[in-house]
Amino acid sequence: MRPLRLSGSQPFRQQQGVFIMIGERTNVAGSPKFARLIKDGKYEEAVSVARQQVENGANVLDICMDEGMIDGVAAMTRFLQLLASEPEVAKVPFMVDSSNWAVLEAGLKCLQGKGIVNSISLKEGEKAFCERAATVLKYGAAAVVMAFDEKGQAADFEDKIRVCERAYRILVDKVGFPAEDIIFDPNILTVATGMEEHNNYAVDFIRATKWIKENLPDAKVSGGVSNISFSFRGNNRVREAMHAAFLYHAIHAGLDMGIVNAGMLEVYEEIEPKLKELVEDVLLNRRADATERLVEFGETLKGESAVVAEKKEEEWRHGSVEDRLTHALVKGIDNFIELDTEEARAKLGRPLAVIEGPLMAGMSVVGDLFGAGKMFLPQVVKSARVMKKAVAYLTPFMEAEKAALAAAGHEVKAQGKIVLATVKGDVHDIGKNIVGVVLACNNYEVIDMGVMVPAEKILERAKEVKADIIGLSGLITPSLEEMVHVAREMERQQFKLPLLIGGATTSRAHTAVKIAPHYSEPVVHIVDASRAVPVTTSLLSDENRAEFVAQHRAEYDAVRKMHAAPQVKTISLAEARKRRTPIEWKAEDVAKPEFTGVRVLDDFPLATLREFIDWTPFFHTWELKGVYPRILDDERQGAQARQIFNEANALLDRIVSEKLLRARAVYGLFPAQAVGDDIELFGDAARTESLGTLHFLRQQANREGSEPCRSLADFVAPREIGLGDYVGAFAVTAGTGLKELADSFRAKHDDYNAIMAEALADRLAEAFAECLHKRVRDEWGYGRAENLSPDELIHEKYRGIRPAPGYPACPDHTEKGTIWRLLDVEASTGIKLTESFAMWPGSSVSGLYFAHPESRYFTLGKIDREQVADYAERKGMSVAEVERWLAPNLNYDSGR
Ligand code: SAH
Repeated sequence: MRPLRLSGSQPFRQQQGVFIMIGERTNVAGSPKFARLIKDGKYEEAVSVARQQVENGANVLDICMDEGMIDGVAAMTRFLQLLASEPEVAKVPFMVDSSNWAVLEAGLKCLQGKGIVNSISLKEGEKAFCERAATVLKYGAAAVVMAFDEKGQAADFEDKIRVCERAYRILVDKVGFPAEDIIFDPNILTVATGMEEHNNYAVDFIRATKWIKENLPDAKVSGGVSNISFSFRGNNRVREAMHAAFLYHAIHAGLDMGIVNAGMLEVYEEIEPKLKELVEDVLLNRRADATERLVEFGETLKGESAVVAEKKEEEWRHGSVEDRLTHALVKGIDNFIELDTEEARAKLGRPLAVIEGPLMAGMSVVGDLFGAGKMFLPQVVKSARVMKKAVAYLTPFMEAEKAALAAAGHEVKAQGKIVLATVKGDVHDIGKNIVGVVLACNNYEVIDMGVMVPAEKILERAKEVKADIIGLSGLITPSLEEMVHVAREMERQQFKLPLLIGGATTSRAHTAVKIAPHYSEPVVHIVDASRAVPVTTSLLSDENRAEFVAQHRAEYDAVRKMHAAPQVKTISLAEARKRRTPIEWKAEDVAKPEFTGVRVLDDFPLATLREFIDWTPFFHTWELKGVYPRILDDERQGAQARQIFNEANALLDRIVSEKLLRARAVYGLFPAQAVGDDIELFGDAARTESLGTLHFLRQQANREGSEPCRSLADFVAPREIGLGDYVGAFAVTAGTGLKELADSFRAKHDDYNAIMAEALADRLAEAFAECLHKRVRDEWGYGRAENLSPDELIHEKYRGIRPAPGYPACPDHTEKGTIWRLLDVEASTGIKLTESFAMWPGSSVSGLYFAHPESRYFTLGKIDREQVADYAERKGMSVAEVERWLAPNLNYDSGR
């Protein structure tokens, strides 16, 4: 036999006795996933389906775009062009698959090398058949010839061989088509359908294959294998066994190739014996009750395959509409929500009755489960998404009903109205968004004012909407002061509402000691999203409020007493300076960078950043506590963790392939020297052109024994030593485009993905900081030999540190101002500083680079009046201003 010879970018020659696998997943008719990607225009992801098939061993790729909603010619052309630039995919030959001749021809025009056309046949008569075969020949492709003629599909053995022989003679004798390039597909038809006349289909195909191979010299035989088991869809165990057994017998008969799911082929010998016997009874038509027996046995395999589990879950669809709504809410399934909501509306007569009835009932189940710790935060946010979609569906009906309702004096009664805002100067809002969603799905009306909201705006809005509660959020320390300001204003304007406080730097102690005393109504710190609802419910309940408030006041009084205890012991600034970090300055510890000055990176590849992600904080965002990757195997949270991890990566795939976010960075390395607790930066090697000064504070509190009093300035060679040291600075963002992305999800009532996108952008920004730091250590020279794994990078196992202003070693956020001037950060990256020196957009990181081997992080702790005055003078700021920025670090009562 002359072998089939094809080529992609590499030649392909059929080997004697080796079955050719044609990947089937790039077929819109066979793969719903691929179809969705093409319909949504996600070609990059569609390309990855092709890549997977090749990686899984496909020798040829079948590509089909036959679907009513798809423009086949355009889709085929575009996809083939994209594949051509994917070396790992383009190396294999392609099979262009369509029942539309125009699509086949469009495909032929794009094929490099020698591919296969799938298919031509005698369906439309001999003339059309000859013309098409001639065209295929002209393009230099092989052809699949279906066993079809003017009368239709050849189902039994006689018809199959008759049609194939006729086609063969025409092709070889009239068209001059090379016989070895003729690939017959004698129709693999579905067995076990319950129709007796279908029982012999597999046998007919196998016999026809044998006959063709023996009687039509050099012709090949192929077929679409998964069609054989179509009546068992939903039961992958049975289907895979059928495919393996069918291929075993067909290949014996001479089958050269098949369209299969590469990577999903079971080995014939490994089919479970009982299953194999039943499957072969069906395929080989060995007994009359074969189908029945296989169906029966197939049932017992249920639950063993993922696909079957899915099918079983569908059973909830048989419950009452109320049960279905509850199920959808608890499970966070939104596929059927509009259907079920409509059914409930029709049943209950009014849209409002649906909300107040089954939807509220379902959400209260969610609330109870979450409150009892039986549901995780991501699930609750998904439930909220289902609720929002249901309400969005009902809204137009309610609008229509509004007049009637008003006349009847009825309106939707929410649990209460809550105004939420991130305070002026701060941009952090993931936590606030999560709390908002959790409250909203517990029937609170949430008015979320977003970020950087001034006190007067918050209070105005609260009055306007007659809010029942105000909630403030903030991440950075200056926000603590801003919250005190809001509390004072509420007192002054005689507000009577409770105030909730939340966000990363807030604490129960700070709330009790610094905020609560300024406002007569309850001020309550909310430690995480799961606490929000119990607190608001108590605060707004007629029966429980008094008791809750009394208990709360007693608790905060106790906290205040504890903090009124004597302040920590500090040593004098002069003594602290004598006890600086002991460093023996040696020339070999001072690294000279390969460049000085400023560099900009725009559109940094997100795929690279992804490798540097530290996932642990991601799980914390979703209130799953643990360390990645161990958390994925955690007994209690593992299943939930794996699920959000998978969903996060799916969204990340999209963000990377569709470039939904843009990563930008600027960094610089500068000659530097320490002068006291400051670091002077220079624009020239001679260190005469001053670029500015970084100011640092020094530890003074609780220095036992000989413990050093550290300052970041200790890690740079002092001027008098004259070693010519260097310092770096950087700012990175992955937040460009984030707002648009999150808004696009919110427009679809999908807060879950909006929050997911925000959490991922934060991860990418931190990953960027890590990735850039690695690059800088290389360019600085001292990092070139380090060779650390991603995990070692996350654990900062390298030489040097990158302290960030606003963090414990240098809590003064205003030092970012110097970085911004030094690097002209806003011009090159678009990152702005707010009046509180928060970075906008939020998914940004900035800091400094110190290279000395002894440099390390520490916590500044409390400082005394003397150091504040000294620092204020060095910075050219008033003492009051410094006290405002460093409030949490003061070891004295500034009277603010
Ligand atoms: N891998 C984590 C790292 C972020 S927080 C993530 O992806 O979220 C850690 C960063 O904060 C450090 O890389 C450093 O830039 C800064 N940092 C940590 N401790 C510090 C300290 N004591 N003083 C100043 N900056 C500090």
